[in-house]
Amino acid sequence: MPAHQADYWKGRVVLITGAGSGIGQATALEFARAGAQLVLLGRKEAPLAETAALVEELGAPKALVISGCDVSNNDDMGSALKKVESAFGRLDAAFNNAGVAQKAPAATAELDATEWNRVLDINLRGVFLSMKHELPLLEKTGGGAIVNTASCAGKVGFAGYAAYCASKFGVIGLTKTAALDYAQKKIFINAICPGPVETPLIEEFTGHQKAVMDAILQTVPERSVAKPAQIASMVFQMCAPWNSYMTGAAVSVDGGQTAGYAG
Ligand code: NAD
Repeated sequence: MPAHQADYWKGRVVLITGAGSGIGQATALEFARAGAQLVLLGRKEAPLAETAALVEELGAPKALVISGCDVSNNDDMGSALKKVESAFGRLDAAFNNAGVAQKAPAATAELDATEWNRVLDINLRGVFLSMKHELPLLEKTGGGAIVNTASCAGKVGFAGYAAYCASKFGVIGLTKTAALDYAQKKIFINAICPGPVETPLIEEFTGHQKAVMDAILQTVPERSVAKPAQIASMVFQMCAPWNSYMTGAAVSVDGGQTAGYAG
């Protein structure tokens, strides 16, 4: 962090959805190290409380925990942002990261239509509703940053994962459009596109099968699975005040997975 920006996050408010585990938790810790006031949002109380305790251990202000909140529910997201406004009166950055894996691979015609709705509701509608309620407060604050979590599966197809891929391609389209809508309001809106990351979600994705994980690794030129902190550090950079000209971008952090054919 440039020395003159060292105190930038102190007194600034950062909201993270899906903050109880994986990439969301790691990103909360990254902002906590910079002294930000965190808002940790998700469905279950216990994992969010765990993140809140870690945030406090790092010396950041006590986080506002908003549990029982489903990102795909318009009323839940509306009341969450009202809580943020009444607690702090501002919002400086939002990381719209909550998401789910498709339960099982299925060729497109075999994919259950209810599963399609579940994945699209959380992964795409959830990002839309998050932004819908965050943007007015960001605007009132005078600007800020949004990072939405897409995926390498938002840039290339993955056989058997139509719902997951469609949701993540959708997140990128939504991000670019919102970036255009708010480009003159100093709200910088970008997507991050992780490759495989060591979190509960990828365990669900692979069905805990080592052979499936090994097959995924063969598609990563760098040949490793990322730690959540490796994604979190990029999200932090993307929200940084010196990142003041990038908007509408879909940034790959994927060990080269979508760079091309590695042979
Ligand atoms: P994770 O399962 O640890 O985190 C997902 C979080 O979202 C969980 O805390 C979960 O409780 C929360 N969540 C799920 N549905 C929700 C809802 N309806 N409302 C509120 N919260 C909800 O897994 P992760 O890998 O850290 O996933 C974070 C994001 O990263 C997801 O959007 C995922 O699609 C994306 N991603 C993950 C990988 C990977 O390999 N792990 C790769 C690319 C993208």
